[in-house]
Amino acid sequence: MPYNYRVSVELDDFTKRATAFLSDSLPRKEATKAFVWGEGSDNMSMFEEKSREAEKEMVAAEKAWRKKKYDAGFGWITGPTQYGGAGLTAAHERAYQTAEAGFKAPGQGIFTIGLGMVAPTILAHGSNEAKEKFLQAMYRADIVGCQLFSEPGAGSDLASLQTKAERDGDEWVITGQKVWTSGAHYSDIGEIICRTDPSLPKHKGLTGFLIDMDAPGVEIRPLRQMTGGASFNEVFFNEVRVPDWYRLGEVNSGWGVALTTLMNERAAIGTGSGGGEVSMMTRITAMVRHFGLQDDPLVRDMIANLYINYRVANFTNKRAMDKMKAGQTPGPEMSTSKMALVNNQKLLNDFLCHVLGAKLQADTGEWGTYAWSQLVLGAPGLRIAGGSDEVMRNIVGERVLGLPKDAGIDSKSPFRDLKVGTQKD
Ligand SMILES: Cc1cc2nc3c(=O)[nH]c(=O)nc-3n(C[C@H](O)[C@H](O)[C@H](O)COP(=O)(O)OP(=O)(O)OC[C@H]3O[C@@H](n4cnc5c(N)ncnc54)[C@H](O)[C@@H]3O)c2cc1C
Repeated sequence: MPYNYRVSVELDDFTKRATAFLSDSLPRKEATKAFVWGEGSDNMSMFEEKSREAEKEMVAAEKAWRKKKYDAGFGWITGPTQYGGAGLTAAHERAYQTAEAGFKAPGQGIFTIGLGMVAPTILAHGSNEAKEKFLQAMYRADIVGCQLFSEPGAGSDLASLQTKAERDGDEWVITGQKVWTSGAHYSDIGEIICRTDPSLPKHKGLTGFLIDMDAPGVEIRPLRQMTGGASFNEVFFNEVRVPDWYRLGEVNSGWGVALTTLMNERAAIGTGSGGGEVSMMTRITAMVRHFGLQDDPLVRDMIANLYINYRVANFTNKRAMDKMKAGQTPGPEMSTSKMALVNNQKLLNDFLCHVLGAKLQADTGEWGTYAWSQLVLGAPGLRIAGGSDEVMRNIVGERVLGLPKDAGIDSKSPFRDLKVGTQKD
């Protein structure tokens, strides 16, 4: 194929412009210093455990950086110009990300759900008015979005949800309860899936909407997790009114809308494993040396096993990312990637319990020991978020291995009525 000189020059110019903007705005990252056990932060938490005050400061810093980036033309590089994007290619996005990685940029965690999941759903299913009102505002950090899907009786089986939306002229009236809403307390809008026709089969009577989180009738209550913080909330809706143009997709087509969001959720979860700039392997090998366990055959075996599993997971994840970069939709790779991430976290937890023992449970003040408990206690959340282990295994079993469909309550599987313990009949 002939070399596309024009695209390359444009990309070079773009990269120069991005680097100049970054140099003017942020300090460069220093060359990574060799990791020394006992120096720097030993924070290994999986979930942010900040006080509300500290969280407010973090939210303000993350918003300020995103605004600045957006105003310089780098906030929504691949987005359509019609709605405030720069209309450039995925190659430009990658070039910017590579350039930014050389600088100390504030985190962007508060946007993971809004920009990673809600905004792509608005782009795919929102009305023109909604696209115009929300997309630019979301990418410019004027507003933050959250995901209002799970309910006390509807998680893995999301289609069982009961929060209802009833039409009243040009408006809808929403009543019900959602739970586990990450970041609802600092969000301005939410994507909510509601039941709009209870007489239809459960997957068919649902509709997606956007909702203002400060509308009259919305009540947000924090939920405290076992690691100490309160990243999640339960959200109550008492006759909350939304205009019809806040609707996502057709009436009673909410299941397709939810799937768009969930597909983006699995991609957004990725394979991060905490530990900031120092890789997990560097940290744990330093820990093993610190405790003089480098010749212990069991410890060596556990480390080798971890390393191999991390590498394999990276390749699986890369396969899914490459598919996305090529404009294809990743299939069950997202599920195997998620399963590998969870499996590796379990291997790491077993290793930490073996090496640290009681130091993981009692805070002796010793650097790099009790701090790991935040990671170990956060791990069960990882097993559930974005689809639980069992649900992921069902997907792989059915779509990759071609096994019969799960005998769930909606299943048409021939095993549907087979009761455990009655096979002899
Ligand atoms: C860190 C984190 C962040 C979250 N953030 C959000 C958010 O922002 N917004 C939101 O809406 N929700 C959020 N959630 C909620 C999440 O989507 C649900 O917890 C998840 O869908 C599971 O639902 P559930 O908790 O009701 O568990 P259930 O669905 O009740 O599952 C209970 C157990 O039964 C198993 N199980 C269920 N169905 C099957 C089956 N068919 N076959 C075999 N086993 C099965 C599950 O694997 C699990 O072990 C978050 C959860 C976590 C952990």
